[in-house]
Amino acid sequence: MKALSTTVVIVGSGSAGISAGFELYQQGTPFILLERGEQVGGAGKFGAHGVFAINSKQQRAKHVAYGYADAFKGLTDYNHFFVNGELLARFLKESGENIDRLAEMGLPVTVEQSEQKAHLNDPLVYHKFNDFKKKMTNWDKLPDKFRAAGNQVLTGMAAVDVEYDDGLKAVIDEDADGNRTRIAAKKVIFADGGYCGSPEMMAAKYADNAALLNLGERKADGTGIRLAAKLGANTDHNPVLFAHGCAPSLSINPMRRDSSVETLTNLPLLWVDQTANRFVDENVVYDFAMWANAAHNVGGQYYVLVDQKTLDQFRTQEVAMEDTFERQFCDVGETPKTTVGPLPNIQKDFDAAMTSGEVVKGTSVADLAAKLGLPLAALRRSLKVYNQAVESKDDAVFLKAADALQFTVDDGPIYAIVEHCAILGTLDGVNVDRNCQAVGKTGLPIKDIYLVGNNVNGLYSDGYPSYEGIANGFAFVSGWIAAKEAVKSLKQESVEA
Ligand SMILES: Cc1cc2nc3c(=O)[nH]c(=O)nc-3n(C[C@H](O)[C@H](O)[C@H](O)COP(=O)(O)OP(=O)(O)OC[C@H]3O[C@@H](n4cnc5c(N)ncnc54)[C@H](O)[C@@H]3O)c2cc1C
Repeated sequence: MKALSTTVVIVGSGSAGISAGFELYQQGTPFILLERGEQVGGAGKFGAHGVFAINSKQQRAKHVAYGYADAFKGLTDYNHFFVNGELLARFLKESGENIDRLAEMGLPVTVEQSEQKAHLNDPLVYHKFNDFKKKMTNWDKLPDKFRAAGNQVLTGMAAVDVEYDDGLKAVIDEDADGNRTRIAAKKVIFADGGYCGSPEMMAAKYADNAALLNLGERKADGTGIRLAAKLGANTDHNPVLFAHGCAPSLSINPMRRDSSVETLTNLPLLWVDQTANRFVDENVVYDFAMWANAAHNVGGQYYVLVDQKTLDQFRTQEVAMEDTFERQFCDVGETPKTTVGPLPNIQKDFDAAMTSGEVVKGTSVADLAAKLGLPLAALRRSLKVYNQAVESKDDAVFLKAADALQFTVDDGPIYAIVEHCAILGTLDGVNVDRNCQAVGKTGLPIKDIYLVGNNVNGLYSDGYPSYEGIANGFAFVSGWIAAKEAVKSLKQESVEA
């Protein structure tokens, strides 16, 4: 086996790993950064649009009153006290300074109003990357900086094992051809992004796994969590799915934005679950986390129903409904559209989606129920009650606002879009202390082993909260914390020696 040696190994070069690398680079601590992919960057580089923070300079300049007490109490309450209080506190307290660090790293952000219509009046906590494309190119410049200071950034290399004997001895990595390298090191920071890329771990934790649309980082296969568990780290807790938004399929989804089928799923039309019942006020579409949670709760899948007259209306007219993803894809300062349509390609898009399976058409309510395997009596009842709500502009059951009660669904040709709960990753992993050091079942920290970003348990009780940017904000801050603590511990060890 090839042999290398360094002081700290960082596994993964997404938000948490690149942030840890930047701290070690600034402190002059030698490190090797391992990345399984051919390029640096995980979900944080390719997907995320922003980060959460409190007390940043930008927020102070705008006199944002929302601060530590609001965020700490808010998140603790929101999660019914299923939080690691010290870790949450440290993350929040360092989140403001992290905004300056991001600018230093070449990844500047600007505090701005939420991207989600449901949160337009929330306090200003979301800091959005100024330029998404530039973020990616600047991310790619960091490895050269690290290398110029004598460190190594090895792409196409996955950590697969650790040697440990009363402290870390080495991290073993493997390239795509199975060639292994032993990297002797004193500390390891696992920043490999959770486990949404492990079909086994996902199936073991989520009953609706088969229905979920996984838009997360598939290279994240739970390496850090599994290796930490092997060393005795505590991984016993509720699974926390990063459910966020919904979409019909990998080819028709909000990242591509090229199908009218997707547009219609982003509106508060009529939705029914596998029992043919409505299950939520469809205006939940404007809150990505809650929208996805509602879908996760009905088996990860539901149907959006529209009849032919509604499809024709979208084809020829502008409709006063906002596409929930409209604001996410606006650049900083751009004004979002609050209507959709006309959608001249809608019939073509629906016909194509019928061939690929995202849309099912019934010639009548009964035909649609038969094709989808829905109970006909329940479907008829749901349509009747919903149509009455549209006529009277009064949704007595789910209380959807009158302006979203626009389209009845009448017998005749009806389309069902098969909509899936989308996930951006997983958010439970290993219990850590306030230093992001792994903790064993008895509570003792496990020497030399740090976990960060999506590998960490303790911030959420059962799902992603409606605090935009918190996962990515935590990833950057936790990478920074782990690197600082690893350096501190190395200094302490050298004094003791
Ligand atoms: C499409 C999308 C949009 C998102 N938008 C937002 C948003 O706007 N705001 C927000 O807060 N969050 C958002 N998120 C979530 C956010 O990106 C993550 O929470 C964050 O990136 C987690 O950081 P991480 O470093 O833990 O993982 P990642 O950034 O995913 O990085 C993990 C890295 O580890 C590498 N890796 C995995 N296994 C190994 C191994 N064995 N050896 C070496 N390398 C390995 C992976 O290849 C990857 O590069 C989004 C996620 C997605 C997918």
